[in-house]
Amino acid sequence: MTTAVKRIGVLTSGGDAPGMNAAVRAVVRTAAGMGIECVGIRRGYHGLISGDFVTLTGNDVSHILSEGGTMLYTARCEEFLTVEGRKKAVSMCKLLGIEAVVAIGGDGTFRGALELSRMGVPVVGIPATIDNDVGCSNYTIGFDTACNTAIECIDKLRDTMQSHERCSVVEVMGRHAGFLALYVGIAVGATAVLIPERELDFERDVVEPIRNARLKGNTHFMIVVAEGVGSAVDIGRQIHETIGLDPRVTVLGHIQRGGTPSARDRETASRMGYAAVKSLAEGNFNTVIGTHMGDLKALPIEEALQMTKHVQMDRYEVLEAMHVR
Ligand code: ADP
Repeated sequence: MTTAVKRIGVLTSGGDAPGMNAAVRAVVRTAAGMGIECVGIRRGYHGLISGDFVTLTGNDVSHILSEGGTMLYTARCEEFLTVEGRKKAVSMCKLLGIEAVVAIGGDGTFRGALELSRMGVPVVGIPATIDNDVGCSNYTIGFDTACNTAIECIDKLRDTMQSHERCSVVEVMGRHAGFLALYVGIAVGATAVLIPERELDFERDVVEPIRNARLKGNTHFMIVVAEGVGSAVDIGRQIHETIGLDPRVTVLGHIQRGGTPSARDRETASRMGYAAVKSLAEGNFNTVIGTHMGDLKALPIEEALQMTKHVQMDRYEVLEAMHVR
C-alpha cells in the first residue's frame, strides 16, 4: 500500500481523558495495518522536544483499550510555547525520521500542533477532553465517561442527603464550559445547575428552585455547580446566609478524569484514531478529526481552531420540566 507517510509519531497532551489510550491503540494498529511505523512520544510536547520516543507495535498497545489515563503520559509544556522550543521539536522529528504527528488533546494541544505544522511537520488532531469544549467537534473523547463517573458519585451523595434531608452542592469539572454540569445535572435530576454560560442570578437560579422544590414536598436539594462558575464552597455559604440551610459541599475534582472508558469513548476513540491515520496516509495533512451529527470529518486545523460550540441552553427547559409534579 502506498502511503504519504512512512513513520509517524503519536502524543497525548493537556488534561488527560478516559479513552486517550483507546485512541493511541487505534493510531498504532491502523498505522501497522498500512505499513506505517508508529512512534509514541511521551509527555506531550515535552517528549517531542527532548526526544522521549518509543517505537510502538500493535502488540505494545494490547490491553490498554479498557484503561483510563494514557500510557504515553501527558503534560503541559511551557517550552513549546516558544519558537526556540518548537525549533528543537522540529529538529528532533527530522533527526528521528518522524514525518507527521498525531496530537491527542484539546484546543491548546491543537494550537501547538498548528504551530508545528507551520514549521513543516504535518499534523492531525484528535479531540480528547472531559470538558467537551472543543469547537470543531460535537463530541470529545472522555466526556461520556466523566459524566458517568460524576453521576455515580452524585447518586451516592443523594442517598445520604435524602436520609438527612440536606442540601448538597456538588462542584463538577468543565474548565470554562458548562457541558459536563448541565448534562450531569439533567441526568441526576438536580434541583439547580449553575454554569458559566448563564450569568448567575442567585435568587432566580438557586433560591427559587430550592423554594419550589420545598413547596412540592422535597426535603433534600441537589445543586450542581460547574467549576467555571466559581467555588462551590462560596455557593454553599451563600445558600446558608440567604435561606438558612446548612449545605454539604462536595468537590468531585480529578476523580472525574479517571476510570475505565465507556463504550462511547472507546468506540469514538477507535474511529477517530483510524480516521487520523487514514487522513495522514492519504496526504490529507493538518486537520482535526471532529464528530458532526455522528459522522467523522477531517477539518483544516486553522478553521477547526476558529470554530465555537455553545451549550444548548434549551436543556434548562428539560431540567425545569422534570421538576413538575
Ligand atoms: P488542552 O490541549 O487540554 O487544551 P492546554 O491548553 O494545556 O491543554 O495545552 C496543552 C499544551 O499545548 C500546552 O502545554 C503547550 O505545550 C501547547 N500549546 C498550547 N497553546 C499553544 C500555542 N499557542 N502555541 C504552541 N503550543 C501551545
